[in-house]
Formats: sequence, structure tokens, C-alpha cells
Amino acid sequence: MIRDPATSTWHYVEDRLVPDLAEWRASLFTVGNGYLGTRGTFEEGFGDQEVATYIHGLFVIPPGETPVLAAAPDWSSVRITIDGEPLLLDERPPAGYHRTLDMARGLSTRTVVWRGLETGTVRLTFRRTASMVEPGLVGLDIRIEALTADVLVTIESGIDATIAGPDGPLWMPSSWQRTGSSSLELTANSVDGSHQLTARTWMHGLGAGRLVADDTHPRFGFEATIGNGAHVTFTKAAHYDHPAATPGFDPTDITVDRIITDSQPLWDARWATSRIDIVGDREAERAARFAAFHLIAASPPKDTAGSIGARLLSGYAYRHHVFWDTDIYVIPYLTVTQPDLAATHLRYRYRGLEAARRKAARFGRTGAFYPWEAADTGDEVAPLWVSTPDGSPIRIWTGEIEEHITACVAWAADHYHRWSGDDAFFAEMGSEIILEGARYWHSRFERENSGAHLRNVIGPNEYHVHVDDSYFTNALAAWQLRRAADLSDTEADRYRLLADEVTIHRRADGVIAEHARFLDLDEIDVASFWPAPASLRWLLGDERTREVQLVKQADVVLAQVLLRTSSDITSLEANFGYYAPRTDHGSSLSLSMHAFAAARLGRSDSAYEYLRRAVAIDHDDAMVRGGHGIHAAAQGGILQAIIFGFGGLDLHEGLATTSPSLPDSWESLGFSFVHNGEVNEVLVDQSTTKEGA
Ligand code: BGC
Ligand code: BGC
Repeated sequence: MIRDPATSTWHYVEDRLVPDLAEWRASLFTVGNGYLGTRGTFEEGFGDQEVATYIHGLFVIPPGETPVLAAAPDWSSVRITIDGEPLLLDERPPAGYHRTLDMARGLSTRTVVWRGLETGTVRLTFRRTASMVEPGLVGLDIRIEALTADVLVTIESGIDATIAGPDGPLWMPSSWQRTGSSSLELTANSVDGSHQLTARTWMHGLGAGRLVADDTHPRFGFEATIGNGAHVTFTKAAHYDHPAATPGFDPTDITVDRIITDSQPLWDARWATSRIDIVGDREAERAARFAAFHLIAASPPKDTAGSIGARLLSGYAYRHHVFWDTDIYVIPYLTVTQPDLAATHLRYRYRGLEAARRKAARFGRTGAFYPWEAADTGDEVAPLWVSTPDGSPIRIWTGEIEEHITACVAWAADHYHRWSGDDAFFAEMGSEIILEGARYWHSRFERENSGAHLRNVIGPNEYHVHVDDSYFTNALAAWQLRRAADLSDTEADRYRLLADEVTIHRRADGVIAEHARFLDLDEIDVASFWPAPASLRWLLGDERTREVQLVKQADVVLAQVLLRTSSDITSLEANFGYYAPRTDHGSSLSLSMHAFAAARLGRSDSAYEYLRRAVAIDHDDAMVRGGHGIHAAAQGGILQAIIFGFGGLDLHEGLATTSPSLPDSWESLGFSFVHNGEVNEVLVDQSTTKEGA
């Protein structure tokens, strides 16, 4: 990626095509409007790139699999030939290449200079965007200039239902029709019969099209000669009739410029509350804008049959399932910047209560037990088995025993209510989410003379499965019980009593055991393994990993960050000091929360180093496999580290306060935030930091 200080921090730039990195960068250049996202693959094709437009709620269950958010029949591919030669950058590298993601406008622009074996040189400028006004609408255009000689250009494009997912085909086309001289409509049924989707497209710019009547991929072919020095522009708009979109919307005559102009006021409104200015550090400022852009582009403004998945709308990893990543990493940020987007997710969680009750009942318990991984219905969709990198199967227990998710959903609902003042939400939905989870914990804890225990769980540190009394789980469950006690007169006493009995192993020096046996395990110094793969687990093997004090991701530290109002800073100090050297950050959810915690402890330089590494997860593909999508939790965590960590934004008795701790290189940090429906502007600099104002 370019590190050019002259480039605006509203632009994310790729200045070189590196074939091996193309799949990862396709994730980064995703454009979206909150309802759908199209990966930044090349229109003309490139190797076996993962072409996908994901639409929220479009979960399909392929035979024998868990639900996957199906890529819709594809609108984005455009086959191009120049003087009969296919324009393919993997076959003939370009002479010039440049791509930007304009985050203020939600527009991706790619310029390619190319010459075939026996062709003149052409310059192509591809632009792509999604409409913020019409949820089903996307558009692209391609300007083709002949730079050295006349060229004959052909273009072929339509709607392609042969698009496949990770387990094979997703769609069976049921009908298609030509609807105009170069427009058509295709309707397809998902392979499991659960969805019918109609897509319409209109194309323009190269004269009349010739129809290629292919039932799975109807398309038009165009042809034009471009005189030396002249250019043509091909435009394509497409619309998907998904439930949030305007049914039957006709994309005829819609250009990219029109989508940009119509969408601009909506982007401006989003940016007005997601503003972050960091004077003295353009890289960090760009990273913050990148994070905010992708979170907004993947968060539905109105209810859909889904919510923000672990990889936003940018890749297939985790099949777009919704994890605690959304509740704990994304929602706290959206709440203080885009409260309506946070509310959509919480309503999705509320609609999932029924399924969570079913899950609790399945385990013989009362109340609601939220799914570790959720899709459209809110039922548990975590797989029972997955393959390790070497191909051997491993049993996944998360769907049965990674129980902290229930408290995380409640924590998010409470956080949203505290900041937004949305009492209607809380009265109707939030309090029920909290109470139903408290009922679950009440039926789940084992109460003995030694205290109340949660045996056989997985905490955030998934390296250790089947542990007893995970601090994170117990502390958040106790928080939820107390919160529920405030909300229910009839159940208050029993919840308070239980919360007081919850087992927490705290040493005299303040260090809290991550789980009952953790402090008895063998010592490990993660730094001594450096340089190591993204996760030490693959180096040590599962068995050894379970015997050492190795932590995958912020766990005790995260609990202390979340419950910061009730736990003091000396406790965070002791536990950060103990756990940070034992953590290998084998998950994308870790570095940002270490940045947050370190900033709170006033260690702004070490916090900055964590932030830098958190940014590298997606910007440098530091965890590899970035082609499978942008890490939602990393992006949300980065923004939280900046606003709540470095900016020190917090609520004290209903009052929003800041206690900044800026890295030395930051002259100032400015940001906006929303509290009780009002937009506030903060500007802090080094002097405010030193005064601790
Ligand atoms: C994750 C779990 C998840 C499982 C199956 C693992 O890589 O760590 O949280 O449940 O994959 O999706
Ligand atoms: C992490 C989980 C996370 C999941 C999805 C796993 O590797 O350990 O905490 O929820 O990925 O991002």
C-alpha cells in the first residue's frame, strides 16, 4: 500500500498490482451501502478471484452445511477484448496501475494502462459504487481511451447466476428476459429453495448490444472502434430486489455520477458523526477513516434478516455469521457515532431472543442462551467440526460452551442505552435481553459452599477449552445479574445474591486467574518465540497449548476494559502487566483492546504500538488470508482504541467526559460523538493530555 504523505487521508491507495496480493486487496476495496457489498475484484477477471456481491439476510443452507451468506448472481464482471485479445492483467501485466478507494464518497477507481501483444496502448478507468439512497442499486463505468492507435474493443456483460460459494453452486436460474435494447432481468432460486432473487441490469455506451441468450448467464455483447486519441465510456447499473430494496426498481439511465451525486448527502451525514482528525499522523487518520468507511458500508440502516458478520460484507470467512465481534467490538463504536446503525443490530439480537430461548431449553436451562454464531433465524449455526490448516478435522465446542456471548449481547444493549438515551428501545427490547440472559445464568451456575461456578466453558481465550470459572464469563455474567436486579423487583434479590457468590480467583497482588487452573499452568514468554506465525498454537500443537499460560486474545484485560466503571485502574495495571506478555494475539480481536487498555493506563507509546499492529492486520494482511474478508472486530476495535482509549471518552453518571492520552507523534486528536441524540465535537492535544484534562 502506498505510504504517500501527499495523498489525501480520505483515499486508500494501491499503486502497484501484486498478483499474489490481489485476493486480499479485493477485500479492502469492497464498496457497499450497508445492505450489500461488492468485493473489489477486477471487472475483467483475474485468476480465480472470489467475485461476490453479498446482500444482508440472504443466507442459504447448502446440503450438509451451516448457513452461508450467498453471493448474489453477479453483476460486476465485464469481459473485455482489445483487438481480439482478452484484457487480463494476470496474463499480460499492465504498464500502469493505480487504484483508490474514496472513502468520503464510497467510490473505488482503478486506472490501468495496458497493451496487448499486437494492440495499441489503452488506458482504462474503472469506477464502482453502491447507492446510499436505493438499497438495491450498484453501478460501474469503464472509460477506455486509445493512446497510441485505433483499437477495436468488445465488451460482454450481463447477470451471472453461475456464481459459486465455498461449497459450490448457490443459485438455480428460474427465468430471465430481455427488458430493453441493452437491459435484462434474471430471477434465480437459491439451491436450498429459501430465496428467490430478481436482478435487473442496464448497460450503455457502446451502441446496440447483441444478446447472448444463456439461461445461467444472459448477457449482451458490444463492440466499438476507438480512434487514436479518442475514448468511449461503458456504463452499467444493476439492481437487486432484496427485501430492503424498492421492488421492481428500474436501473435504466442510472450512471455512476448520478449515484455518487445522489448518495453524497447521505455519506456526508454519516461522516459528520464519524469524523476523526489526527494532526501529526496521516497514516492513523487514514486507518481510522478506512475503518469507519467499512463499518458503515456493512451496517444495515434498516432491519434485514441478518446483521454485521465477522468479515463485514467483504469475504466468506466464517460464512458471514454474526459473533460477539459485533456486540463488543463494532457496536460500542457505532453507538457513539451512528446510533441508528447500532440500533439495527440490537433489534436483530432482540428478534433472536426466541431462538436463544430454544437454545437454553435444549440444554435444559431457562431464559435465553444466545448463539455463539448466528445467521438469519438467530439459531446456533456454529459448526461442530472444522478442518485445521493441515486438513485434519477438529471438534468445535464454541456453539455449546462459549457462553459469554449471552452477557456480551446484554452488555451491548446496555451500552447502547446508556449513550443513546433510547428509552423506547430499552423498555421494549433491551431490558428483556438483559433479563432473559440473567435467567439463563441463574439456571446455569452451580452453587456450592465454595461459591457459584460455571464449569466447562470456553472464554475469549479459545486456546483453552472446557475450563472452569473463566473470569471473563463469570465477571460479565455477574455484571448481567446485577444489571437485571436493577430492572426487576421480583427477581432482584436472587440475582444479587447469586452475583455476590460468583467465583473469581484473585491473587493478593491483584492478578486475576483467567480460569480456575490458569495460574498453575506452565509459564510461557511469547516474546521468546519471535518471529513466530500469527498464532503460537500451530507451533506448539493443541496439547502443549493447553498446558501453558498462552492467551489467544484479550480476555482478562478485555473484561477489565468493559467493566471499567466497576473495576479500578490498579486492577487493570496488574492484569495488563501479567497477561500482555502471555498473549500471542492469535485472533484479530486482541491488539486493539490492548491499545485501548494501554492508553487508559497512560502508556500511550506502547498503546500506539498495539494500534499500529492492529491496523496492520488488514492493511498489511498481517494475519494472512485477508482475501477472506476484512476483520470487523479489528476495525471496530481500532476506532474504539482511538476514541475511548487515546481520547478517553467515557460516561460518568450520565455525563460524557474525556481523559486523553495521546501518542507523542499526535499533535491533536479531534472527533465527533453522539450522546443522547446530540452531536458533540472533541479536540484534544498534547497539552490537554499532560494536564490530564
Ligand atoms: C473460531 C471459533 C468458531 C469456529 C467455527 C474458530 O476458528 O475461533 O470462534 O466458532 O472457528 O466457526
Ligand atoms: C476469535 C473469536 C471470534 C472469531 C470470529 C476467533 O478467532 O477467537 O473471538 O469471535 O474468531 O472473528
